[in-house]
Amino acid sequence: MDHKVDFQVFPSENMVPAPDRARLLDNLGFGKVFTDHMVAVSWEAGKGWHEAHVRERRPFQLDPASAVLHYAQEIFEGMKAYRTEQGSIVLFRPEENARRFQNSAARLAMPIMPEELFLDAVERLVRIDREWLPAGEGSLYLRPFMFADEAFLGVRPANRYTFCVIASPVGAYFKGGAKPITVWVTDKYSRAAPGGTGAAKCGGNYAASLIAQAEAIEKGCDQVVFLDAAEHRWVEELGGMNIFFVMESGTLVTPPLGTILPGITRASLIALARDAGMNVEEKPYSFEQWRDDAAAGRLKEVFACGTAAVVAPIGHVHHGDNRFSIGSGEVGPVTRQLREALVGIQKGSRPDPHGWLHVI
Ligand code: PMP
Repeated sequence: MDHKVDFQVFPSENMVPAPDRARLLDNLGFGKVFTDHMVAVSWEAGKGWHEAHVRERRPFQLDPASAVLHYAQEIFEGMKAYRTEQGSIVLFRPEENARRFQNSAARLAMPIMPEELFLDAVERLVRIDREWLPAGEGSLYLRPFMFADEAFLGVRPANRYTFCVIASPVGAYFKGGAKPITVWVTDKYSRAAPGGTGAAKCGGNYAASLIAQAEAIEKGCDQVVFLDAAEHRWVEELGGMNIFFVMESGTLVTPPLGTILPGITRASLIALARDAGMNVEEKPYSFEQWRDDAAAGRLKEVFACGTAAVVAPIGHVHHGDNRFSIGSGEVGPVTRQLREALVGIQKGSRPDPHGWLHVI
């Protein structure tokens, strides 16, 4: 790897014994089980990136004045390592995560991590914890993140940061598997405004979305859908996923980039849909239009997408006291086709024409 930071490796002396690990891997939800190691790299003004470690996963020691605890200078990524049918371990488009991490850092006035260093850190963790990669349906979810740990209460960009990667073996994101989900469209809460941090993957965006997600659960729904902050009219995205509409004409519509997170699954599905000869339009789509198109039968399928859930069909929509369904409320053919195309590449059961797999 072409970067100037030397990693020191201290293998854990408290690894989870193999039979216990097997038991944990047998009963996976999302984000509850963690691997034995972590990677950490420090950054300091004047020194740049230094002190890179691969070591036992363990709590941080944080000064109570650490800037992240007060002004939320924190960003993260979400990506997965997969075991292909041929038995190799692959990452899916990890360079895209490295670049998005750089863009998030720039927006939060944090240091930019070189792409090679980001990839090296992630690969080192996957290699040392490779035994944690579940067989079959599961994958190893990787969580790179960075936070400000300078002890200083003034309001300005901090001059000390820690970058870290942890890993969590995961099974299905939604308990019902690929069964259509029900979404709650909120009028009350906004996720991101023009000029805000919507396109960055920072913890603050999620903190602001939790009350709306809690409201969705209270209403018996699985996920919240946010509308634009200015007019409460245009569909933006879900709490943790992008959204696609499949029209009767066969055209796919998805909201344009700007205030939404530029999902890597979103970009990949746009490419796969176009490969399959489908027309894809990135354009504003209003909630009113969504409801009218569903009522008139012009809207055939709706699905959400993201690294964690891959492709999740949306069957039912609640908004205020109203509710409506999409088509029969079952998984549609386009949703299934795109899901299978993407999972097929990730699992190595289909060719990878775009060179998206990064073998470790
Ligand atoms: N939107 C939000 C708000 C998200 O948190 C995520 C998950 N990272 C996505 C969209 C989907 O992005 P990706 O396909 O890169 O996982």
